[in-house]
Amino acid sequence: MDSRGFREAAISSIDEIINYFDNLDKRDVVSTVEPGYLRKLLPAEAPLEGESWTDIQKDIEAKIMPGITHWQHPGFHAFFPCAASYPSILGELYSAALSGACFNWICSPAVTELETVVLDWLAKALGLPECFLSTGPTHGGGVIQGSASEAVLTAMVAARDKYLRETVPAELEGDAREDAIALKRSRMVALATSRTHSSTQKAAIILGVRFMTIPVGADDNYALTAPVLAATLAKCRERGLEPFFLTATLGTTDTCAVDDFAGIASALADHVPPGTPGEVWVHVDAAYAGAALVCPEVQQATRIAEVSKFHSFDMNMHKWLLTNFDASCLFVRDRAWFVQALSVNQAVYSNNASDGGLVTDYREWQIPLGRRFRSLKIWFVLRSFGVEGLRAYIRRTTQLGEEFAGWVRERKDLFEILTGPSFALTVFGVVGKDEEEMNQRTRRLYEAVNATGKMWVTSTVLDGRFAIRMVTSVNKTERAHVESAFQTFVEKAEDIVRP
Ligand code: PLP
Repeated sequence: MDSRGFREAAISSIDEIINYFDNLDKRDVVSTVEPGYLRKLLPAEAPLEGESWTDIQKDIEAKIMPGITHWQHPGFHAFFPCAASYPSILGELYSAALSGACFNWICSPAVTELETVVLDWLAKALGLPECFLSTGPTHGGGVIQGSASEAVLTAMVAARDKYLRETVPAELEGDAREDAIALKRSRMVALATSRTHSSTQKAAIILGVRFMTIPVGADDNYALTAPVLAATLAKCRERGLEPFFLTATLGTTDTCAVDDFAGIASALADHVPPGTPGEVWVHVDAAYAGAALVCPEVQQATRIAEVSKFHSFDMNMHKWLLTNFDASCLFVRDRAWFVQALSVNQAVYSNNASDGGLVTDYREWQIPLGRRFRSLKIWFVLRSFGVEGLRAYIRRTTQLGEEFAGWVRERKDLFEILTGPSFALTVFGVVGKDEEEMNQRTRRLYEAVNATGKMWVTSTVLDGRFAIRMVTSVNKTERAHVESAFQTFVEKAEDIVRP
């Protein structure tokens, strides 16, 4: 493909993409293909001779689209959204053109420097404490990771390293040091609640450290509180275990619960005072709901300033902030913690800028070596929408969630809200004479609404109750779509409750 061919192909592709977005609501939300459908449609081997773009492009609609579940569809009320927007797509386009493995500053200074600047912009827009800014008093800063799971793993590696550095006596050397580290590692435990995303447990599995679940329930709205954490810390001490890491969540996956940050800080202060050797590293997972912090009222309601006592904070712009996958923004209070844990030198990566210590080399803040130019799309999004534009979007979609919950509440003959609305998520079920009937009816409702093809909701289980999660935060979702989804819920539920 030469430049002329690229221009024609690109124009035609962009036209097709615009058409796709403009007509999304005419498609069913979820793909209905059978497993293995694509192998039957494609040749067994790659073509020997190159094909024309026209032939290749035809296969997008014919072969790929049937196997696509449409995350930007206005009827997508499942999981949490995975954002897309035109400015962000343009960021991806430039990033693809400027492709490089920009792991060191010298590999493309703009890639590193734009990332530092836009993550400072973002931290300020989210109302994060100054300690998470690259220009802040504690030498913190932000780095873009591929996912919230990668972010928690990166934070846990740094936490493990920091804990060992602080608690294994410095005077030990050689085998004695190795033995002391091995013993310590066998006792170290990462903590998370029964509602924390599974990525914390996965990080503990990857790192080979113990993992302990703190049970949280409906009495505390599924959030972690000080007394429950204090009881877990006491249990660890009794068993000779050493907690070194805790994930606190702002917006849990099932119900969008917010853990009690002030309570967590005070329970931990009674365990090991902050800033003293062996303190527990607290990572705040705000993967989805962190986006809502662009609104000052959410900063206040969640008391986000409290996170200055914690060590790392992560949110996904690619969930609820109009930026394409992948853009997980991880902030740390002291960037040296990442560098100390993740800097492994090899002669081939040496250069004057790095060796002079004047630049940031993001390879030392992450697990992979190579990295893409992901800050471009964040820059484009922040500039195109402006912080006010992002606030308006968050408020609009949050309001849709409030309205939906209001309508559900009015139909007490059919529905019961289990949690929410919280950050545009309502978790509810169908009424019934006992738990078994409620669960059976809710499951039937869940299957019936999804079978329409016009909407997609996902489910969870809360203390034995099967429940539907209804999310209203996809960009294309308007009030009329939520109203229509509610009508579908009502019609199907009436058939189930009064057959
Ligand atoms: N944390 C929370 C609270 C989530 O809800 C999710 C996914 O929805 C994740 C982490 C994992 O996100 P990722 O796919 O970016 O790893």
